Amino acid sequence: MDPCSEDDLVAAAWAAREGSLCTYSKFAVGAVLEDATGKLWTGANVENASYNLGLCAERVALYYALTHGASGFRRIAVVADAASPVPPCGACRQALLEFAPDATLSLENRAGERQRYTVRELLPHAFEAHHLNHDLNHDLNHDLNHD
Ligand SMILES: [Zn+2]
Repeated sequence: MDPCSEDDLVAAAWAAREGSLCTYSKFAVGAVLEDATGKLWTGANVENASYNLGLCAERVALYYALTHGASGFRRIAVVADAASPVPPCGACRQALLEFAPDATLSLENRAGERQRYTVRELLPHAFEAHHLNHDLNHDLNHDLNHD
């Protein structure tokens, strides 16, 4: 698959945003993830009358991709119509770190302002899978201390 430009990636997120079901907040968000093959996986936020059941665009896109076998995410774009580009919330940062730790994020608002981060930049000192296993944790710390 031909690599797409950052503009193409962001445009895909804007197109995905059209699918938002933001009945209550009226705050539509679109997201797209590019996997290791260059395939794009899109999502938009979905809300529910039981407010806390809603799901952010980033996790809709991520879980869609994961449940279709995608992996090795390289780039992510998130777009919303806001005063400034909108970063992923804390929950999405945690989810993205687990499955897309090396991805870069492009955030854009309707005015075309764009910000770029890596997933790791947005969630420093993160809780990660290796924290669940003492021996593995020890091994990783050992590796980190000998870089
Ligand atoms: Zn979120």
